[in-house]
Amino acid sequence: MMYYSVIKDCDIANGPGVRVVLFVSGCRNHCPECFQPQTWAFDYGQPFTQETADEIISLLSRHYIRGLTLLGGEPFEPENQPVLLELVQQVRAKFGHTKDIWAFSGYTLDGELLPGKKGDPKITRQLLEGLDVLVDGRFVAALKNLNLQYRGSSNQRLIDLPQTLATGQIVPWHE
Ligand code: SF4
Repeated sequence: MMYYSVIKDCDIANGPGVRVVLFVSGCRNHCPECFQPQTWAFDYGQPFTQETADEIISLLSRHYIRGLTLLGGEPFEPENQPVLLELVQQVRAKFGHTKDIWAFSGYTLDGELLPGKKGDPKITRQLLEGLDVLVDGRFVAALKNLNLQYRGSSNQRLIDLPQTLATGQIVPWHE
């Protein structure tokens, strides 16, 4: 069972366009400057059920919504990955690639998210394959930069996942 704290139905800060944003619960990163430590607990908020997934799909179907963003907490905690994979698969089944899917992780693609380091490697891979963009890395206060698009510190990367998974090289995302 995964828990989540909030669903934002009209967000413009966490990816391009107007988006639906899901904040999942559970995070072991424990960043010193975390602005929402209450989301570290895996049972914070409310249980994520099929009704929640249906609600997200219904919110996404509005024509002005560009896509879905998965935030935390930590979407890539092993407990959260299988639930989010199912959600991503349902969103793809309904919308194909007419809506884009972003995820934010405190873990890095070529660090903790390497196969087998955070849960079932097959699930991690399938989840990454289902996404368009991963914003990776923890927020580091010493590297804070207010001019960066969609991220808080300069160590964090906007990664084009389809290109990166196809080439094996980190490919930055551009609009
Ligand atoms: S990854 Fe996000 S939720 Fe987790 S401790 Fe860091 S800032 Fe907080």
